[in-house]
Amino acid sequence: MISVEKALETILAGCCPLGFEKVNILEASGRVMGEDVIAQRDIPPSPNSAKDGYAVRSSDTKGAKSRTPVELKVIETIAAGSLPRKTVNKGQAARIMTGAVIPKGADAVVLREETEEKDKTVIMKTAVLRGAEVRFAGEDVKKGEIIIEKGSVLRPGHIGMLAALGKAFVTVYQKPRVAILCTGDELVELETDPSPGKIVNSNSYSLAAQVRECGGIPVMLGIGRDNRSDLVEKFELAGRSDVVLSSGGVSVGDYDFVKDVMGDLGNAMHFWKVAMRPGKPMAFGSLNGLPLFGLPGNPVSVMVSFEQLVRPYLLKMQGHKQIFRQIFKAVSAQTIRKETGFKHFMRAVVQKEGDRYVARLTGEQGSGILKSMMAANAFIVLDEDVSFVKKGDEVVVQMLDETMLRTDVPCFE
Ligand code: AMP
Ligand code: MG
Repeated sequence: MISVEKALETILAGCCPLGFEKVNILEASGRVMGEDVIAQRDIPPSPNSAKDGYAVRSSDTKGAKSRTPVELKVIETIAAGSLPRKTVNKGQAARIMTGAVIPKGADAVVLREETEEKDKTVIMKTAVLRGAEVRFAGEDVKKGEIIIEKGSVLRPGHIGMLAALGKAFVTVYQKPRVAILCTGDELVELETDPSPGKIVNSNSYSLAAQVRECGGIPVMLGIGRDNRSDLVEKFELAGRSDVVLSSGGVSVGDYDFVKDVMGDLGNAMHFWKVAMRPGKPMAFGSLNGLPLFGLPGNPVSVMVSFEQLVRPYLLKMQGHKQIFRQIFKAVSAQTIRKETGFKHFMRAVVQKEGDRYVARLTGEQGSGILKSMMAANAFIVLDEDVSFVKKGDEVVVQMLDETMLRTDVPCFE
C-alpha cells in the first residue's frame, strides 16, 4: 500500500501533455493555449472618442465656465465607423459619436450633456484637459505585444481579446479521450428494472461527468462482466483513447479480475492499494500501451479516487499548470473520529460564516452513500496520523467547487 502523495508522484511522472489542435474561438473557452498570441495590431487602432460629444482643441475651452462660456463653430458630424473629413482648427469643434475617430487638430472630447447646441455652433460651459474622453491608439493592446501566453486557460475575457484581435481559430492542447469501463456481474444499464441481486451501473455516469468537468471526452465502454475474457474483450474497445478508467473488480474478491488483466503480457501494474479512505483498492498500470486507472467499485470511492488521482493527470495532459484543487483551512463544525494509517477525504460543505470558513460533514460517510457526495462542495482532508478532530479545530479543506461557497445546501444528517 502506498501513500496518496507517492501514488500521485508515480502517476504524474508518466504523464505527458497531449498534442495541439486548432479550434474556433467559440469552442475555446476553458481550453489551454498551445501557442503565444502576439498582437498583430493596436487596439484601439486609432484614437477615438469614449463618449458622444464634441471633439475640440482643449486650449479653446480654457476658462470656460457658465458665466464665461465659449462658443465654437461646429464643422462636421463624425459617426462611428466613418472617418473625419476635416481638421479642427482654432475656434472649431466636430460633433462626434462614441467610437468615432478623433479628427486632426482635436485633442479632447466634451460630453454632449455638458454643452448647449445651437444652429451651427456649440456652447461649452466647462473647460476640458488635453486627452479628456479620448481613447488612445494602442491604449489596450500594443502591436507586437504577447497578449496571451502559451499555457493560459482561456476564459471569456480571453475569448473577447482573441476576437478583438480578429482571430477566429487558436491552437490549444487536445482534450484527452477517456475510456470508461465499469465491471460487475451485478450491473444493469439505465432504464432497466434491476432484477433481485442486480443494481444500476451509476459509476459510468459519475465518471463521465467528472471527466467532462475537467475537460476530457468520455468514451463509454459500458459494462464488463466479472470474467477475464470479457474484460480483455471490453478493454480492447478503448482503442485510440488516451486513458482508460475501470471501476470495480480491483479488490480482493474471488471475481476481481482487473488486476489480473494488468498482469497480462505487455500490460503492467505500477501500484495497487492507496492509503486513502474511501478509495483504498485502486490499481494503476498500463494496458495495451495506455495508462489504466483501476478505480474502486463503490460509488463514492470511485469518485474520490478520480478526484485525487485521475483529475490531476487529465489536467496535466491538457497543459494545465494548476492541476490541484484549491486547499485552505476551515473550522470543523463537529467532532470527527477516524482510523489512523489512511488519509481520509470526508464529504463536507464549506461555508463562510462571518470572517471564517466552517466545514460541516454532509452526513453518512460510507463509500456507497452517494447522497453525501452529492451535497458536498468540499472534502475535509485528514492525514494518516490523525485520529480525532475536536469541534472548533482547524482542518484542511479541498474545494470541489471553487466557484461557490454555498449557503443553500441541505446536510443529510
Ligand atoms: P467491487 O469493487 O467490484 O467489489 O464493487 C464494490 C461495490 O461497488 C459493490 O457493492 C458493487 O455492487 C458496487 N459497484 C461496483 N460497480 C458499480 C457501478 N458501476 N455502479 C454502481 N455500483 C457499483
Ligand atoms: Mg465487482
